[in-house]
Amino acid sequence: MNPIDLRSDTVTKPSPGMLQAMFSAPVGDDVYNEDPTVHELQDYCASLFGMEAALFCPTGTMTNQIAIKMHTQPLSEVICEKTSHIYLYEVGGIAFHSAASVHLVDGVRGKITPQQVLAGINPDNVHYPVTSLVSLENTCNKGGGSYYTLAEIAAIAEVCQQNGIPLHLDGARVFNALAASGDSALEYGKYFDSISVCLSKGLGAPVGSVLLGKKNFIEKAKRVRKALGGGWRQAGYLAAAGLYALQNNLDRLQEDHARAKQIAQELALSSYVAEVIPVETNIVIFRLADEVDMDQYLEYLKENGVLATSFGPQLIRFVTHLDISEDMMQTLFEVLDGFQA
Ligand SMILES: *Cc1c(COP(=O)(O)O)cnc(C)c1O
Repeated sequence: MNPIDLRSDTVTKPSPGMLQAMFSAPVGDDVYNEDPTVHELQDYCASLFGMEAALFCPTGTMTNQIAIKMHTQPLSEVICEKTSHIYLYEVGGIAFHSAASVHLVDGVRGKITPQQVLAGINPDNVHYPVTSLVSLENTCNKGGGSYYTLAEIAAIAEVCQQNGIPLHLDGARVFNALAASGDSALEYGKYFDSISVCLSKGLGAPVGSVLLGKKNFIEKAKRVRKALGGGWRQAGYLAAAGLYALQNNLDRLQEDHARAKQIAQELALSSYVAEVIPVETNIVIFRLADEVDMDQYLEYLKENGVLATSFGPQLIRFVTHLDISEDMMQTLFEVLDGFQA
């Protein structure tokens, strides 16, 4: 039996429809700028967000790191939340690629406020790195899938504009934020100078992220991608999967959110659970009661065909996605209810 794999929404496998789209994609050498499917994906994604241009890349780490490299100089600084992916989970890439510093903001569930951004901007003084970028994450992974509304983004963008500082979005799960908030992707282009979108999370593509920005920004970004070894050839086969995902798998994200809420409700009734972080999108984070041995609990889940991720002391993360079926949900509830602490 297939495991009920709730470790991440990156574990999805291409559906028959997606594979069909990949097999039949027209392709060419993308380093020669000759892959029509890559162009189609880039144009489609840019227009979705009201941005001028786009660049298809292998990973979200690469799109984020290219954007940071583009916006910063050595001796400058990036303002971001202390649990943000660009800081925690990209191997210290900001230091490695950009020789830039970070100003970490202590947010609430991964989110920061305009006041915190303003307070984080360094004065023009030789002692300080120059504040050169503000980066937001939407949804916030470590925040348990919390999201910014467009109004909250607009308020932060205003502080950035007033201070001449570009604003980047790590939108690995931006479509989950859009599904939950009801905001329009098209409006995002007004507020962000660059956006990174992942196709391989909840959208279900096997590989790929897209960086969005102005035309000249993306032209230069292409050089940075090449320097990182990310110039690829018949990438249209992968772009076709991304296009298919954008055109078929957006509406169903609400299903993932509803299932995450059902799981949270079930957990809240379990005696071995001390706390469930309120669910906003497709991520459920919960804390086991002190007397429960976390490794033992994870082992119990695994023996019963459920895979989960440990997310800190006594903390466990479940992520819902398109490969979780209704049958799996029923089995999951039985497994959750069956644990004896
Ligand atoms: C997954 C993820 C990324 C990119 O990860 P890759 O594995 O490099 O594609 C970036 N930011 C957040 C918040 C993520 O969850």
